[in-house]
Amino acid sequence: MGLNVVILGPPGAGKGTQAARLARQRGVPKISTGDMLRDGIRDRNPVALEAKALMDMGRLVDDRTMIAIVQERLTRPDTAQGFVLDGFPRTVDQAEALDSLVASHGNGPLVIVDVKVPEDELVRRLATRRICESCGTTAEPVVPEPAGCPVCGGTLVQRIDDGARVVIERLRVYAESTRPVLEYYRNRPVFQVVNGAQSPECVAQELESVVEQASVVPPPIRPVAE
Ligand code: AMP
Repeated sequence: MGLNVVILGPPGAGKGTQAARLARQRGVPKISTGDMLRDGIRDRNPVALEAKALMDMGRLVDDRTMIAIVQERLTRPDTAQGFVLDGFPRTVDQAEALDSLVASHGNGPLVIVDVKVPEDELVRRLATRRICESCGTTAEPVVPEPAGCPVCGGTLVQRIDDGARVVIERLRVYAESTRPVLEYYRNRPVFQVVNGAQSPECVAQELESVVEQASVVPPPIRPVAE
């Protein structure tokens, strides 16, 4: 039985780092819609290039485009044993589409984890976050700043959308469009919350244990058709 995990949380909560660790541990792909778009921009993909203006302003790319991207990604064979999703769903329409995709995928439960971090901590983290210009790796924030990308040695730069003004817009968009996604999932027995305001190691431990707990929740009893 596969394991499908959705990591939710505001920008700067550490979703990407935690999703990557969990995916590695479980041997399933990490699917980050933000990374897919940024990779697409580097490869001059027309859909991603069209999305770039919205990304740079801290706005969301339209649901149709994002659902199509995720739908295509979830049909690839490496998701047969499950996946860890980072950055999707960001709207209730995307969450509904994901439910249908998982139902047709039919390979195990969907576990939802919300990574909670106070807003002042998010702003601080985003101001110091750096990304590799060449391969897109997000560098762990360390002091003093690392000289280059730990993966390819490329130059580390600030993401355009991590600039102070865009961060305010991203947090506003999160509150308006993505917080309702928490309400969409909140009453499910597979919904879990972790404290993201700890060291990455502690968050990873908490995440691992809630995923373990949630993945043994029995499926809801469906009425038998007459
Ligand atoms: P992220 O790396 O997850 O912070 O995403 C960076 C940007 O990509 C977001 O601010 C959006 O502009 C866009 N994006 C990524 N995922 C989605 C999504 N599921 N829905 C809409 N826009 C998205």
